Amino acid sequence: MIHYHQHLIDGDMRAATGAATTTIHDSTTEEPLATIAHGSAADVEAAVKAARAAFARWSSTSVEQRAAYLLAIADALEAQSDRMADSVVAEVGMPLKLALRIQVQAPIAAWRTTAARAAEALAETRVAHSLVTKEPVGIVAAITPWNYPLHQITAKLAAALVAGCCVVLKPSELAPGVVAALCEAALEARLPRGVLNVVVGDRSTGEALIAHPGIDMVSFTGSTAAGRQIAASAGARLKRVALELGGKSASIALPDADLAAVVKHALSSCMLNSGQTCSAITRLIVPDAQYPAYREQLRGGLANLRIGDPRDAGSRLGPLVSAAHRSRVSAYIERAQQASYDEIADDTQTVLPARGYFVAPAIFGRVPADAELAQEEVFGPVLAVQTYSTEEEAVALANGTPYGLAGAVWSASAEHALRVARRLRAGQIDVNGAPFNASAPFGGFGASGMGREGGTFGIEDFIELRAIQLPQ
Ligand code: NAD
Repeated sequence: MIHYHQHLIDGDMRAATGAATTTIHDSTTEEPLATIAHGSAADVEAAVKAARAAFARWSSTSVEQRAAYLLAIADALEAQSDRMADSVVAEVGMPLKLALRIQVQAPIAAWRTTAARAAEALAETRVAHSLVTKEPVGIVAAITPWNYPLHQITAKLAAALVAGCCVVLKPSELAPGVVAALCEAALEARLPRGVLNVVVGDRSTGEALIAHPGIDMVSFTGSTAAGRQIAASAGARLKRVALELGGKSASIALPDADLAAVVKHALSSCMLNSGQTCSAITRLIVPDAQYPAYREQLRGGLANLRIGDPRDAGSRLGPLVSAAHRSRVSAYIERAQQASYDEIADDTQTVLPARGYFVAPAIFGRVPADAELAQEEVFGPVLAVQTYSTEEEAVALANGTPYGLAGAVWSASAEHALRVARRLRAGQIDVNGAPFNASAPFGGFGASGMGREGGTFGIEDFIELRAIQLPQ
């Protein structure tokens, strides 16, 4: 059993002052894994005070100096890669090989990319006789979820710190392993006291942080429901808000698309991290006439995705994060079964390990546009297939949810796919399976949020513009 009972405040690891704790369980063995002491209002107070005290000095350092700290943090994190990957496997349930690459190595690379992009993002510009300077927004409250914990923390921290902001991070209490490693990395990199403070806790710790008058901006990643509350709380206090929220992303297969490639992409995107991915493709929109062919290919494709212990090299799907989340996802599947959609793959196809928070992947076909499964984020291994007759209909289906985080379009003509991609109201669209680009803006339309992370765009979220008119 690991005890995470300290917070990083003003350059020191300090024991939590509150009494509240959470116990988390290994998602595969269901054994108790760790206890986490929640930050109290007093811990939040101390963290914000330290951040404010550090701000004048940190914001006046050069961009190059701040970028050098980011690189030092990346190096210190890299030395802890295996430990962080192991913690993500135990807490979140992602298979080890994928966890190491996606949950650890990719975010470490993002610390370095952000450092490399900082000078460009923060350069002063001229508009006629005005000098436009880019100033840090101030003290940032960063609130993050558990599903890709280091990635989500990095997207906020690297950008905010290099912009000259000081940060109080309130990460999810459900994935504390990478947070402990990050605190160690910040200390090892000798980040000046108070520039980064980390107070772990649950929702009430987050609420205390947002309500604190010393916070200038809230950068939140998590559910749309929590995002609404946070935006309301921050809005009432006139704090800037950036929100990275949920999704119900669709992949459109045009009639001339490569069927096998479409199916492979949809399954790997939907089932990655057992569906616990905000930008997962959770709807596949296919031509009505080709539905039987897609149905068959999906069934076969799913059989190749081995579910099992995430520490086994052969496993592609691990368990979900917790018993509570498994119940939530299972309830969605049961309701879809009762609704009598075409069950392309159901739980009888899969043998689940005897222990662990596993859920068998499910695929439902001919799901109506207004169905719960077509409208709501399940956050589990569940794919909804929808059909269309005309391109207009396909675009309307893809755009027909409150969300707009990601999407995909497939066609033998990349030009045709691009024309359709331009019509999708979502923040990231992949044409014919083009890969993720960490330097491109990432974020959502509508209920998927506001603001962007990634590359120079992510840094811009943390700046205030100042125009200085010069005499002519
Ligand atoms: P969550 O909303 O329950 O919690 C996220 C974080 O916010 C946690 O640290 C939690 O303690 C805190 N929190 C919750 N309510 C709060 C409140 N009212 N005030 C202050 N803090 C509060 O989400 P989760 O279950 O941890 O994560 C899953 C969700 O995150 C999914 O909906 C997923 O789509 C979304 N997500 C979005 C992105 C993105 O980039 N768009 C990325 C990852 C996850």
